Amino acid sequence: MTMPSFRYGDKVYEYAIHFLESRKKSISIHVLPDASVEVKAPAHTKPQKIDETMKKRARWVARHVDQTQQNLAQVLPREYISGETHFYLGRRYVLKIVRSELEQVKLIRGRFVVECRSPSKDRVRELLEAWYKEHAHAVFKRRLVSVAADIQWIQKAPPITVREMKKQWGSCSPKGRISLNWNLVKASMDCIDYVITHELCHLKEHNHSKQFYTLMDKHYPEWGPVKAKLDGMAELLLNE
Ligand SMILES: [Zn+2]
Repeated sequence: MTMPSFRYGDKVYEYAIHFLESRKKSISIHVLPDASVEVKAPAHTKPQKIDETMKKRARWVARHVDQTQQNLAQVLPREYISGETHFYLGRRYVLKIVRSELEQVKLIRGRFVVECRSPSKDRVRELLEAWYKEHAHAVFKRRLVSVAADIQWIQKAPPITVREMKKQWGSCSPKGRISLNWNLVKASMDCIDYVITHELCHLKEHNHSKQFYTLMDKHYPEWGPVKAKLDGMAELLLNE
């Protein structure tokens, strides 16, 4: 069976349609981290209506698919050698390895400088990881306090834990403890604020209910494109 598709520029973009029963009222388009396109539509939507919607949104979808594909193409295994780039707060920094008696990482003049006695791949990675975790802690804590201050129903910013997570950026325990993936500090500040807002909204709504998204819309109205950006970069930021 061939998939439905639309044409934009000189490329053809395929998409999968999922018809949803229940309360869904409008057609939504999602570009997934693997650059595939998923369309969610209310049950019994006419194919022609979906086709029209895709043509109307073609430019947006094509841009996101292309961007995601480009990001995926750049995901090569990390070598931890000079010249390689590593992310911090949404920017790429060139790595420079320096043999030194000191063991430290510095971010100076747009470079990650790793000073190390015997710079093996594992040792450089270890030093960088420690640097990221330390900065993740400071950045997340600062942003959490700031984001929480803008949400009236939060009295006090909850405690956070910075952790190693494979598949998620954050989580919120039933007791209200927020955990964040240290790799998130590689993403830009709007992405960090989006994940923090998402977890804070879970303090009130524990699942992804309609009420949950109403809260998200209220406290972070522009969360949609920010989430799409973060999803598009996930492979790249979680690559070690
Ligand atoms: Zn959630």
